Amino acid sequence: MDCLFCKIIDGEISSSKIYEDEFVLAFKDIEPQAPFHAVIVPKEHIASANEINSFNSFLVAKVFEAAAKIAESEHLERGFRIVNNCGEDGGQSVGHIHFHMMAGRQFAWPAG
Ligand code: AMP
Ligand code: ZN
Repeated sequence: MDCLFCKIIDGEISSSKIYEDEFVLAFKDIEPQAPFHAVIVPKEHIASANEINSFNSFLVAKVFEAAAKIAESEHLERGFRIVNNCGEDGGQSVGHIHFHMMAGRQFAWPAG
């Protein structure tokens, strides 16, 4: 399968790793939108949030468990934002579900 994030998970394409466990990988976004910007992905290929079901939804929980660990190790005591872009209108550009974890600045709300 021609999936950029599967290639990063397999090590075919290099990334700057922040966190890894059995279920998820987190790496630095190449176009950071904040002083800290990680991309957290489940290691299983899931195309988007539209593909979440009762069999794979535990992986979303694993992403958030990883985020809590990253917040601690990266000292993100002031808080962070997690974003999932889904589909065309959601602004998704890579077809492997991923969660942006951003910190180090104040984020606007509602998001634009
Ligand atoms: P999205 O637009 O929500 O699909 O997010 C895709 C994200 O992946 C963007 O923020 C890109 O900057 C990021 N990205 C694309 N290619 C790479 C790469 N090779 N390494 C790290 N991040 C990447
Ligand atoms: Zn993939």
